[in-house]
Amino acid sequence: MNNADLAIVGAGPTGLSAALVAPRAGLKVWIFDDNALPGGQYFRQLPKQYRKTQKTVYDKEHGRAAELFTAIHHPNVTYLPNATVWENPDPGILAFAAGERSGRIEAKAILIACGASDRPVPFPGWTLPGVVTAGGLQNLVKGARVVPGERAVVAGNGPLLMVVAANLIRAGAEVAAVAEAAPAKARLWRNLPRLLHAPEIVKLAVNYRGLMAKAGAPYRCGETVIEARGGDELEEVVLAPIDTRGHIDRAKARTVACDTLVAGFGLNPSIEMYRLLGCEVTYNSYRGGWMPKRSEDLETSIPGIFAAGDGAGIGGVEFALIEGKLAGTVIARNLGALGERDAAIQAAPLRSRLERFRKFRVGLERVYAPPATWTELMTEDTVVCRCEDVSLGEVREREAQGFTSAFAIKGSTRMSMGRCQGRNCLPTLAALIAARDGVAVEQVDLPRGRPPARLVTIGDLLQEDLPAPVFPADPHLPRGEEVT
Ligand SMILES: Cc1cc2nc3c(=O)[nH]c(=O)nc-3n(C[C@H](O)[C@H](O)[C@H](O)COP(=O)(O)OP(=O)(O)OC[C@H]3O[C@@H](n4cnc5c(N)ncnc54)[C@H](O)[C@@H]3O)c2cc1C
Repeated sequence: MNNADLAIVGAGPTGLSAALVAPRAGLKVWIFDDNALPGGQYFRQLPKQYRKTQKTVYDKEHGRAAELFTAIHHPNVTYLPNATVWENPDPGILAFAAGERSGRIEAKAILIACGASDRPVPFPGWTLPGVVTAGGLQNLVKGARVVPGERAVVAGNGPLLMVVAANLIRAGAEVAAVAEAAPAKARLWRNLPRLLHAPEIVKLAVNYRGLMAKAGAPYRCGETVIEARGGDELEEVVLAPIDTRGHIDRAKARTVACDTLVAGFGLNPSIEMYRLLGCEVTYNSYRGGWMPKRSEDLETSIPGIFAAGDGAGIGGVEFALIEGKLAGTVIARNLGALGERDAAIQAAPLRSRLERFRKFRVGLERVYAPPATWTELMTEDTVVCRCEDVSLGEVREREAQGFTSAFAIKGSTRMSMGRCQGRNCLPTLAALIAARDGVAVEQVDLPRGRPPARLVTIGDLLQEDLPAPVFPADPHLPRGEEVT
């Protein structure tokens, strides 16, 4: 069994920020990440084998990342890349899969900084080759310097759409249309005072809009993708007006030819580790849906377990960096490595910056508040669970047979039993049940979280040096004879 003062799950902006602070206070820190290189989503690095021939806009942020990356080299830090934390076998203990280094760690404090994932919203044709998510496109561009096509449509909801459109244009692709479902332009002015709490981000957005205007990429609000069409791959998309209740005006639909559709409907906090650890969760549609309940010190409902970054509620990279540092500071104080007064002095500027970004986020979330529901996009043939290829029609069939709870639908269709373990399709299932029963999404009971939190290989599990199992005495065997 490995031991540490602090175990951090996730080496993105949040985890690395905490790993910059806590070891400097003297804590022994282990940090795990299932990628080969640190950086998470925002500071995603090119694979080591790549050789950069010129500096690009994607490198401008790497100055900031450089300081973060020093965290893994601190003498008090053990950094495990390609390591997936998948189970919480006992209080304060995490199991991780990392090939020959697979094992368990016991830690006095645990920081879960697992980030977010794209919120998939099913619609006819969304599984066609040529359709990618907004986060997926960002990873292609940042992590491989690849764009999937020459003529793209960007559709969905949220600020990431503009980032994506700008990155496509910079990479030389034509952006034929950007369809934002929320009436964002109409909401902009009344929320400007809040947005100006983060002028540096507003400036970024103005740059993105400028780039799109210069490239002639039309940006329409109150419109969404209702279908992606093509034989073996994407050939065109159908866009139509959508109102704030989620009603679609198909009579006013229009078709746009393209070879790439970037569908971005926002992000969902990755809560699988919190559910596994038994942390209480709460629901905030503005912050991406379900997220762990936390104190002002970022501690969850389980003492000693902390939650920060996009995995604890969507806030973006600035939030992630500040929350990571705050978590590192609070944990060092709680474990006695930092005095109360020093911790308070260290935390004060972090808390006030966090407050500024909170005000900004409220403005941003009000500008991009999504339509009440996306369920009108789905037809009976629409695949709602990609891993197990389950269609809406199959779900409806089961419901008609009396399988109406999320648990019953999962059990009878295998929806959410596949590779993603429901990370992608459970929000869709909850939305379908909520729309069917006329209740709020957060009132839908989801199936309990089970290990593994993320996929691991049997090979990894076999690497673990576990004690031999102890079987209970078998009453059917003569006394003293053992089960073999
Ligand atoms: C696909 C995607 C692309 C994005 N691109 C951008 C962008 O270009 N610009 C922008 O402003 N924002 C982007 N975002 C938003 C992004 O979430 C934040 O900007 C920021 O990266 C959040 O930092 P974080 O540390 O909270 O999470 P992340 O950066 O996501 O880091 C979390 C890390 O933990 C790892 N992890 C998760 N679970 C486990 C586990 N069980 N075991 C081990 N490791 C684990 C993840 O693989 C990841 O490396 C993107 C989000 C996504 C999902």
